Parts: sequence; structure tokens; C-alpha cells
Amino acid sequence: MLKFLSSTLLIGLFGTFVSQSKPTNITASATAAALPQGSAAAIMARKQVPILCYHQIRDWRPKDSKTSKDYIIPIAAFKAHMKMLADSGYHTILPDQLYDYLTKGTALPSKPIMLTFDDTDLDQFEVARPEMKKYGFKGVFFIMTVSIGKTTRHYMSAEQIKQLSDEGNVIAAHTYDHHSFKKFQGKDWEIQLDKPTKKLEGITGKPIKYFAFPFGLWNAENLPQLHKRGFKLAFQLSEKRDPQDPLMTVRRILDSGYWTVKNLSNSIRHSF
Ligand SMILES: [Zn+2]
Repeated sequence: MLKFLSSTLLIGLFGTFVSQSKPTNITASATAAALPQGSAAAIMARKQVPILCYHQIRDWRPKDSKTSKDYIIPIAAFKAHMKMLADSGYHTILPDQLYDYLTKGTALPSKPIMLTFDDTDLDQFEVARPEMKKYGFKGVFFIMTVSIGKTTRHYMSAEQIKQLSDEGNVIAAHTYDHHSFKKFQGKDWEIQLDKPTKKLEGITGKPIKYFAFPFGLWNAENLPQLHKRGFKLAFQLSEKRDPQDPLMTVRRILDSGYWTVKNLSNSIRHSF
């Protein structure tokens, strides 16, 4: 399963990764005040908060492909990147804060940033968690429920997911088995969204309100299904947002395994 998931994930994500250096529109948030609060146009007019996306956090192995190294950040690089964020005065925010900022203009801490982790990799608990704790950082963990407890395959257990939640991180949905959202139909809504959400709510004892698209892929016609189920925000990768539905197409960039501290710092400033 891990092998299968990794290779499909990497191929799927690569297309979106190459486009992430494209300039994006940043409009002064003052414009938002003139628009109806919470409207799509008002949300689009607010400056985007930088959001980083991580998968595996481990040292490269000889068999890792050139492409996969975009999704595997070496441990020393991850530590250096977290230190840079702390030294530069960034403050991590969580999805509830982002939602209130986007819909109501609620103030955020200075230099806000969001750290997100996809696919349930055990490195996120063993490596990222202690490193983030050093700086008081919190993150968002998008869990693919099929992987829960497959610890021999280097995925997190239900207990570890619960601990992340108890410690103030946010647990969020990332389907059952990484099936593309664009292809959801019929029973998929139950299998890929409803059941995983229930499972994660059972583990954490908290409502699950946020979702990340597998491979970052979404289509506008399926977005109403997320609203219908009460999701407040959904996260893609670095493609343009849907101007009609920016809450369900929040942008993130991959912190590539190839990136230096300088690359990351530049990307944060220019990609959002
Ligand atoms: Zn994923």
C-alpha cells in the first residue's frame, strides 16, 4: 500500500509542483472592507496566509527518485526550516483562525503561517512534532484513514493521532485511501469522506472540519459536496483558487526536499 500510494502520490503531485513559482495576485486586504463580509469576492481580496505542506521527513535513500525528493524533506533541512521560521518571527496559525480571518477579517498574529502534514507518515509524529514543540508551533495533520495503525509501514497509530490532537494540533480529513476527489461519485462520498470523518472524530473526540484534496486535485462541480457536509475549508496545492469558492480551494506550497532556507523564505514571500 505504501509503495502504491507513494508512487501515485508523487506522479500526481508533480504536475502541480512545477507551477508553484508562478506569480499570484495579492490584493490589499483593505479592499475587503468594501465588499460584503464573507462573500467570495471579499475572501479573494484578502492577502493569502502562507501555508506549507509536508509529507515525509527523513533522510534521502539511494532508491528515492529525483521527483520523490520534492516530497521527502531531509531531517536536518526540516529542522533548519523550522528554525528559520521561528528566527524570522513567524507564528503558526490553525484553520479556525484562518477561517475567521477569511470570512470576518479577524486579526491574525504577526507573520502568520500554517504548517500542514499529509498522508499520516510516522515521521511527522517522531520528527516534526518535537521540532515544532521547541518553537511553540502547532500544525494541521491530514490523515488518510486506511493507513491508521499500520506502524510497520511507517504510519501513525490512532494513539499518536489522538496525542497530536490533545496537544493542540488539528486533525483533518484526507480521504480513506487517497482516491482523487475529482473522481468521487456514488458511494465514494460515504467511503472517502463520511466514514473517515466519523473515524477521526471517534479518535480525537473533536469535530473534523477541514479537508485536503489527494494530489491537490479538485473540480468545481464537486465542491458543493464539501459544503453540504459542513467542511469549513478545503486545502489544495498551488493552483489558482476558485474565485467562486475560495474557502474550498485554499492554496499551499510544498516545502521541497531540495529547498534551502533561502529558497523557502523566498517562496513564502512570493507565492502567496
Ligand atoms: Zn496526500
